Amino acid sequence: MSEDYRSMWETLGLDLVAHDALLQVLGKGYQDIYLAQKDRPEGMGYFDFVMSEVHGLRIKELLDEKAAGRKVIGSFCVFVPEEIVRAADATLVGLCTGADFATEEVEKLLPRNTCSLIKSAFGFKLGKVCPYIESADMIVGENTCDGKKKSYEVLKDMVPNLYVMDLPQMKSVEGRALVKAEYLRFKEAIEKLTGVTIDAARLKKGIEIVNNKRKAIHRLSGLRKADPAPISGLDALLANQVFFYDDPVRFTDSVNKICDELEKRIEKSEGVFPKGTPRILLSGCPMAVPNWKVPWIIETSGAVIVGEESCVGERGTRNLTGDTGSTVEELMEGIVDRYFQVDCAIFTPNPDRLGHVEEMFRGYKADGVIHYGLQFCQPYITESMPVEKALEGENIPTLRIETDYSMEDMGQLKTRIEAFIEQIK
Ligand code: SF4
Ligand code: SF4
Repeated sequence: MSEDYRSMWETLGLDLVAHDALLQVLGKGYQDIYLAQKDRPEGMGYFDFVMSEVHGLRIKELLDEKAAGRKVIGSFCVFVPEEIVRAADATLVGLCTGADFATEEVEKLLPRNTCSLIKSAFGFKLGKVCPYIESADMIVGENTCDGKKKSYEVLKDMVPNLYVMDLPQMKSVEGRALVKAEYLRFKEAIEKLTGVTIDAARLKKGIEIVNNKRKAIHRLSGLRKADPAPISGLDALLANQVFFYDDPVRFTDSVNKICDELEKRIEKSEGVFPKGTPRILLSGCPMAVPNWKVPWIIETSGAVIVGEESCVGERGTRNLTGDTGSTVEELMEGIVDRYFQVDCAIFTPNPDRLGHVEEMFRGYKADGVIHYGLQFCQPYITESMPVEKALEGENIPTLRIETDYSMEDMGQLKTRIEAFIEQIK
């Protein structure tokens, strides 16, 4: 990190000793997993910088925004509409939930059989190591899976500013009406928090900023269809992870710059792995920073990941928000339409997701699908079985894995993934 941020962290109430330990582990992991890769696009230098300053410069920027009267909103789910937050000149940041921390303390508050993602959110709060949680003026929880919605009942006593958004379980007319009512309530809460009245012009601007970010990611995804793959799955995943907390305009520019570079690579048939390397589509639970375990195993076992059917990936970024409305009411309808298409496994039934996995498998010219489920994640693990059956029915090789954030199953996972890659070669 280029500056000494210790007094900033202290002011935020972080536990400096625990935080130092976390940064050390993170730095080492990044070095071993990311910087050890060969032939990375030069543009990834930007993301290396972002990661090296993830608790430094980015937090300073957020605190500067707050000093200038703007608000910071933290969220755990892609159902929280960034367009509305942006329209009020506020910043939405994803709260990383990709590493174990303070697990013993967490298990005094939550059942042991809770998924790693939820436990991680609690661990970072209890361990006082997350400057994003501590900087947030509002933390948005959402009633998605049972694990999350019940855990917010506990989290509400640990943070002063939890806002809970209700969400439906079915893609019905009533379900859509609930999303609309909840997004209108959220808009009001954001207006109250920020003191900004969201008019049509502001909402349009918010939609434009967020759509541009999505368009850049769509462009990046499209380039991953090439063989040889011009960028590793690990690097593309990192861009999808940084999507959640970088400044959106700067992020859009940086991704577009990488895409310019990748287009040149494709013209010259240059790639990060040789042409013909087995291509994997990853599907399942979201992978938040710094959850890189499975992609790392895959890409050090002779395959390349060409797409992520995940909320940190295409499920989260798939559709643009309609921007043709001219009133707040019309634009809000466009926002509801866009988010109501997200095919999270909390919905029942959820046939669109299987369709998207198949579409991505073909579109990205994948050779196999690895379904990634976090242990104790009822929605995705339960859905993984019919998904696997349907894919195999179409002769799409599929490997279903269940794991958590620990490193204990590294050897076993590597053996299974290597065998799968051998099989699809
Ligand atoms: S998997 Fe579902 S609950 Fe999790 S971030 Fe995605 S939409 Fe939200
Ligand atoms: S991974 Fe599964 S159990 Fe965990 S928060 Fe997401 S949907 Fe819920």
